[in-house]
Amino acid sequence: MTPLTFRPILKRIRWGGRKLGDVLGRPIGPESDYAESWEIADHAHGQSIVDDGPWTGQTLRQVLEHSGKQVFGRHPCRTPFPLLIKFLDAHDWLSLQVHPNDEQARRCSPDEQGKTEAWVILDAEPDSRICAGLRNGIGPDELLRHLDSGTVDQCLNMVSVQPGDCVFIQAGTVHAIGPGILLAEIQQQSDLTYRLHDWGRLGSDGRPRELHIDQALQCIDFDRGPVFPVAPRQQDEPSASREELVHSPWFVIERLTFQTPWMLSLEDRFHILIVLNGSLTLHHDHGEAPRRLSRGSTLLLPAGLNRVTLVPDETAVLLDVCLP
Ligand SMILES: [Zn+2]
Repeated sequence: MTPLTFRPILKRIRWGGRKLGDVLGRPIGPESDYAESWEIADHAHGQSIVDDGPWTGQTLRQVLEHSGKQVFGRHPCRTPFPLLIKFLDAHDWLSLQVHPNDEQARRCSPDEQGKTEAWVILDAEPDSRICAGLRNGIGPDELLRHLDSGTVDQCLNMVSVQPGDCVFIQAGTVHAIGPGILLAEIQQQSDLTYRLHDWGRLGSDGRPRELHIDQALQCIDFDRGPVFPVAPRQQDEPSASREELVHSPWFVIERLTFQTPWMLSLEDRFHILIVLNGSLTLHHDHGEAPRRLSRGSTLLLPAGLNRVTLVPDETAVLLDVCLP
């Protein structure tokens, strides 16, 4: 096996901007509404295609069907691939929304999973805010009343965010991303979203976008309360800073910061690397040329690679995502 990189799948949505091209170098056109770049996807709404190495031109699904065991290692091989990795550029507010958990998702469609997600902020203009969870004590009746009277803001936990913040949004948490934020999103492989409110806007056809109040109310965990950026947990590591941002049943996210070569041992499971800052070279033992990585590079390291060495030009900051 070799490291897998994929062609970005760009999505234009009314709330998008131009930072996916301007900041992350994704191949965007002249329009001003580039909202998402799906970096690793195995979904009916987007299927990643390998863009380098011996698997070039194959879909992620084809790689898994052919060599799933080498990709998954100690974890059972499964399709669809369990994680979806995206970059998002919010130039305007995203709708206020909630996602179902696994059990609720299966009730809606047997092929779907729930959607728990985590955001790592890459770039944020001053005063950028997100909505993460409801204020303490808000129940369904009060939420509905405020939705009807256009005062839903009074129910929401609004939080200022800065580059480096990580926010963990479990299924059932009401949320929205505000303008001026560029982030990496790590989530379950799912595209099930229930919209509660769209800030009074009209869609591209001049009509309000569809809301899904009933489904949303069934999915909201009213006991969750307000959610805030995570407190990173420093891991014991001599040659690099290694922080655990999220440890959940769906995925684990660590952040690595290092100035000298770093040997990453894969421990018989796949790892997804996302470069947040800096540039570096990735070396591995499988007879392929080293790969250059820069801000925004995203790659899937199959378990069969065993280990890779990452040599930073100066300081490099990476996310390392894997299954628990
Ligand atoms: Zn979401």
